Order: sequence, then C-alpha cells, then structure tokens
Amino acid sequence: MIKRRSSILATLSVLTVLVSCSAKETAVVAPPAPVKTVANTAHRTPSIRPPALRNPSVNLSNSPFNSTKVSYSRIPTAAPYIAMTFDDGPHPVYTPRLLDMLRKRNIKATFYVVGTNVKRYPSIIRRIVAEGHEIGNHTVNHPNLSKMSNSAVRNELNGARDSIVAICGVKPRTMRPPYGALTTSQRSWIHSEYGYPTILWDVDPKDWQKPGASVVASRIVQGTRNGSIVLAHDIHQATVDAMPASLDGLLRKGFKFVTVSQLLSLGGTAQ
Ligand SMILES: [Zn+2]
Repeated sequence: MIKRRSSILATLSVLTVLVSCSAKETAVVAPPAPVKTVANTAHRTPSIRPPALRNPSVNLSNSPFNSTKVSYSRIPTAAPYIAMTFDDGPHPVYTPRLLDMLRKRNIKATFYVVGTNVKRYPSIIRRIVAEGHEIGNHTVNHPNLSKMSNSAVRNELNGARDSIVAICGVKPRTMRPPYGALTTSQRSWIHSEYGYPTILWDVDPKDWQKPGASVVASRIVQGTRNGSIVLAHDIHQATVDAMPASLDGLLRKGFKFVTVSQLLSLGGTAQ
C-alpha cells in the first residue's frame, strides 16, 4: 500500500512537471498577435540616381597602333574620341571603386601604374586587364627621369615592365614619365629602344592638389575636347569621387572613351 501510494505520488509529480513544462512552452511559442499593415500607395521612394549613361563600344584598332611620333599630349582629330588616364596606382580601395564606375558605363581607360604598387596589388592589376583597360609603364619608383642616367632610366622602365608582364602577361605599349619630366633625347631613345611613345596629357585637373571632387569634375568636363588625353590619379579619394560626374558629363557631351593605344591608332602629329 505504501509502495503504491509512493508510486502514485511519483506519477503525480511527473505529471506536474510535464504540465508545467508544456505550459511554459506554450507561453514561449505562442504566435504574436497579427499586425495589420496597409500599403502606402500615396508615396514612392524617389530614385536617387538616374540610370547610368553608357559609353558605346568603339571598334578602333588596339594593336599595333599607328604611332610614328615620339611624344603625344593629344591626338588632333575631328572625331569625339578621348582617353582617360589614371596614374600612380593601383590603390587597394580607390582603384577597385573606380573600376566599378568604369564597368558600369562600359568605359575603357588607361592606367599608368607604378611598379612598387603593381607588386603590392597584383590582383587589381589582373582585374584592370581582365576588364579591358590598358596598362602603361610609369616606372618602378616614380623618380624624375630627366635627371637620371640612361642606364638608371632603363632599370626603372625594365623593372616596371617585367613586374607587369609577370603578373598579368601583358606588355605595356606606352610610357608616361613621372611629372611629365623627360628630355627630348630620352624620349627618342626610349621610343627606338622600347617602342614606347611618351604619353603626356592636355587636360590636367590638378587633382593631386586636392581641390575637391566638384572642382576636379568641372575642370575635366570643361577642358576636354576631341582627341584629349586626360590626366587623373586613382590614388586620391577625391579624384575617384569626382569620376561619376566627370564621366557622365563627358558622355553627355558626346565624347567616346577609348584607350591610349586606340586613340593613337587615329594617327596624329607630335606635340
Ligand atoms: Zn605619376
């Protein structure tokens, strides 16, 4: 009898536990009261950005270009072709941002990269090439070449070229001297030895002085004409911030973006 009572008590206590557990669970999983929502048809979120303008695909020769001159700062042409050039990168943050902006607009640009950064950011170099942009030689260490011996200049050009070739398998076809500094005789022997024309520019927004993105954009849009070579630096945030307005402003004016080699394929005279 005592045994039976104790077994009944045990059963009751188990049931109590079960009841209390299930009560607890019920409280936890109980669905919240349904919330009724009403569509707000009176309001539409305004579009922040209009659809991006798109550069047409340009069927100009890319290689070999028709370069017989030693040095160019612009190609005299009646056609609305222009070349955007970006120097001193790649930069780990700003260059990928810039590449996104270019890709969105189907714009191909030319990057005068510095050898030290080429070695530091090889995947960005490969992305630049994979997305159809051109790579130019801008030396290894960005020195003033006009004050250097021929053999020291050779080391700078060879070093940058070899890093670029090793990383992406593409050989630069043009060079740009840092600060635009290169003597006439240096331009000549570099052209005959490497086949590189010296590429300068005719539009300089002086973005390296950091005048602010809107000033950079307006200088670029106002200064560019048919055959222009535009100088910019993808190592400065404000320059990259200026690019949507610059690129769209130029597209709106009817310019078509091509690489430097494509622009040179139009011919032209030495500057
Ligand atoms: Zn530079």
